[in-house]
Amino acid sequence: MDLQLSGKRALVTGSTSGIGFAIAQSLAAEGAEVIINGRGRAGVAAALERLEQAVPGAKLRGVAADLGAATGCEQFVKACPDADILVNNMGIFDPKPFEEIPDEEWFHFFETNVMSGVRLTRHYLPAMKQRNWGRVVFISSESGICPPAEMVHYGMSKSAQLSVARGIAETCVGSGVTVNSVLPGPTRTEGVATFFARLAEEQGVSVEEAERAFFANARPTSIIKRLIDPAEVAAMVTYVCSPLSSATHGAALRVEGGVVRSMV
Ligand code: NAD
Repeated sequence: MDLQLSGKRALVTGSTSGIGFAIAQSLAAEGAEVIINGRGRAGVAAALERLEQAVPGAKLRGVAADLGAATGCEQFVKACPDADILVNNMGIFDPKPFEEIPDEEWFHFFETNVMSGVRLTRHYLPAMKQRNWGRVVFISSESGICPPAEMVHYGMSKSAQLSVARGIAETCVGSGVTVNSVLPGPTRTEGVATFFARLAEEQGVSVEEAERAFFANARPTSIIKRLIDPAEVAAMVTYVCSPLSSATHGAALRVEGGVVRSMV
């Protein structure tokens, strides 16, 4: 299937590793020009090198900017004023008991996970509407509809993204611009690997046992009973970014291995 992405410019935030890197790789492999982003120059340069190796000849650029604050978002849009595709992927998580999460952390999660996407979409959307074509994708989480007890603030930010994405979609009536959310489930990224390593150490078990216990106790409804590969998320995102997905709009698309016990 030709996803018709050549000639499109795609921005993927938080893409020096994890799901964002997989999305950048998949979009580049489909012929899109891809701009990757991370906080530090060294990480961005290393990720660009890995991407060039994975997709020889791809049109790539990197922009180092901390999108967790307004100034970083301003820096980012100055470096990349225009885009056909915006993937708001960057997001942070941090398991912590509810009683121990102070106000500052609630605001930090809101600003990083929600406002980054709000600020960037506010910048790129008008030109997309003018050109009558564009794709905006928010990478939310199954935690956006199944709030996790181990990080309530993270769940809040992921629910907010769903509302923001649907609301913005409603502003695109009659245009060729679509706005959607993708909801990954637990995915084998570097951050998640560290989380399981820490959990295993705390529980005095192997990483494999910790993962099995996680699916038995914390995510018992998972049908696939395993971590998702970042490439599995990237495949859905790449399709949603393509012209072929033109009737998928204002949707929350699940790539969570069946964790959410719902038919639709
Ligand atoms: P990750 O922790 O692996 O981070 C990947 C990237 O984010 C890196 O490139 C890092 O440099 C960048 N980053 C972090 N803070 C940044 C900042 N302030 N400014 C710019 N870049 C920054 O991420 P991941 O686990 O791949 O998650 C990606 C998205 O998917 C997030 O929105 C996350 O909430 C969501 N998600 C992840 C999982 C999972 O299991 N990994 C599950 C559901 C949803």
